[in-house]
Amino acid sequence: MNFSSKLLNWYDVNKRDLPWRNSDNPYVIWIAEVVFQQTRISQGLPYFNAFIKKFPDVGALADANEDEVLKKWQGLGYYSRARNLLFSAKYVMNELGGKMPASYQEMIKLKGVGPYIAAEVASVCFGEVVAAVDGNVQRVLARYFGVEEAVNSTKGMKIIQGLANEAISQFRPGDFNQALMDMGSGVCTPKSPDCLNCIFVNSCWAKQHDKQGVLPLKEKKVKVRNRYFNYVLKIVNNGVYLRKRPAGDVWQGLFEPRLIETIGVRSEITDLVVDVSYELYSAKRVLSHQRLFLRFWVATGDTFDYVGNDYEWVGVKDLKKFPVTKSIEQLFLSMEFKSLFK
Ligand code: SF4
Repeated sequence: MNFSSKLLNWYDVNKRDLPWRNSDNPYVIWIAEVVFQQTRISQGLPYFNAFIKKFPDVGALADANEDEVLKKWQGLGYYSRARNLLFSAKYVMNELGGKMPASYQEMIKLKGVGPYIAAEVASVCFGEVVAAVDGNVQRVLARYFGVEEAVNSTKGMKIIQGLANEAISQFRPGDFNQALMDMGSGVCTPKSPDCLNCIFVNSCWAKQHDKQGVLPLKEKKVKVRNRYFNYVLKIVNNGVYLRKRPAGDVWQGLFEPRLIETIGVRSEITDLVVDVSYELYSAKRVLSHQRLFLRFWVATGDTFDYVGNDYEWVGVKDLKKFPVTKSIEQLFLSMEFKSLFK
């Protein structure tokens, strides 16, 4: 039996029961793929369900405003995914007459949709024979076929894509893509692949050569840089001042208190903001290329010089309506923060 038939037989018995698995609606598959692009299934599932409930079709999503969409995405990270979804939904309504794309070539024109998502949607919904390659698939194929080229190098990606194109089932391309993904996330996992219970145990190159722990090879990642964000909570009349983060940096479109970015850790920032009284809270966030050290300071004095036009006062009871980062949400829920208000 060849690779594809073996894999599909395994999938028929072991397929994960996920809410979008019985759907061939391109909108639903698109949303699922975007939500789970950088997110584990267990973490993303409540977000996927809530998103589909709130925006059941492309028209409903296109009618939403950015704040509503970001609010539903809050805590999931990589917020450009949500903004791209909204942008593309509007594009579908305005430019495609409300009809979702119906092929790989049309799908990939949507903002935020790369070859992987386009191939998933096209294979699952339209039966197109296009192999979808993500990190899970790279790992399984690199191990099974013994690819010793870095899978994130141009050459390595080409080799893996070529192998996936050769292996894909001509009759069940959508199931093949999903099966390979399930195999990668459930059996051929990054740190401890379950080779003894794997259907490929007798034919896998890495298993035969004891190289499961080495493959897939990867080129070194780009350097992660440290950033130091000092947030100043200006407490006025049982509320706080927030602004929407501008384009061109992380967390675009989310709301935040006044931000002072410094070069390194500061024991105090009173030379930068005159009425800062004390530090309330701190947090750390690691993104793909940045390590963010967040500190929240309280400003209670009367000085009001920094509040420009882009800041708006929000009463403490209304804070939950605004899309914010996970750290700021945690701050708003903390006892330290609540104790600042009556
Ligand atoms: S035998 Fe092991 S390394 Fe090979 S595909 Fe299966 S789980 Fe992965």
